[in-house]
Amino acid sequence: MRQLHNAIIVSLITASLLAVAAIVSPTIARAEPPAPEQAYAPNAPASGPWRSPVGALDLLTRFDPPPEPWLPGHRGVDLAAGPGLPVTAAGAGTVVFADDLAGRGVVSIVHDNGLRTTYEPVEPLVAAGETVTAGQTIGRLQPGHTSCPGRACLHLGLKRGPLYLDPMLLFGKGKVRLLPRPGRAEAER
Ligand SMILES: [Zn+2]
Repeated sequence: MRQLHNAIIVSLITASLLAVAAIVSPTIARAEPPAPEQAYAPNAPASGPWRSPVGALDLLTRFDPPPEPWLPGHRGVDLAAGPGLPVTAAGAGTVVFADDLAGRGVVSIVHDNGLRTTYEPVEPLVAAGETVTAGQTIGRLQPGHTSCPGRACLHLGLKRGPLYLDPMLLFGKGKVRLLPRPGRAEAER
């Protein structure tokens, strides 16, 4: 008798849950799908679509992060471009910095998944807080970046949190370099 009683209770609970599920499921169906797994993989920083900020991807100086954070290095890539030409957002996001920084114009954009791109030296044409789309003009290129003397170039940086990444990864190029260490093999370079 007790077993029958329990079976009835279980049936009632099951029916109730099904009813609740039927009510709730349309909401669940409308919910945003979870971010794809690859968005968090170190070798796939791009949530895309990403676009070159200066048209053709003419790499002048490659990504060369220092073995320790306090050492000199090249924490981004230099892309060839003409002075005064428009610089565009590599991806959709929100401008978090657009101002002068130590005598050079800098624009930083935060994207999905915590990625941040930085463009310099540029004369900003956007302001902090603005949302931008991929390919939208955010500034005009200024001459004077130190690692490509004698010609204008855009220094493009990519970070996730405190970690600098090779910006060329956004465009399906570049190498993954996790936590560079002293004495790394020359082959990794
Ligand atoms: Zn540079």
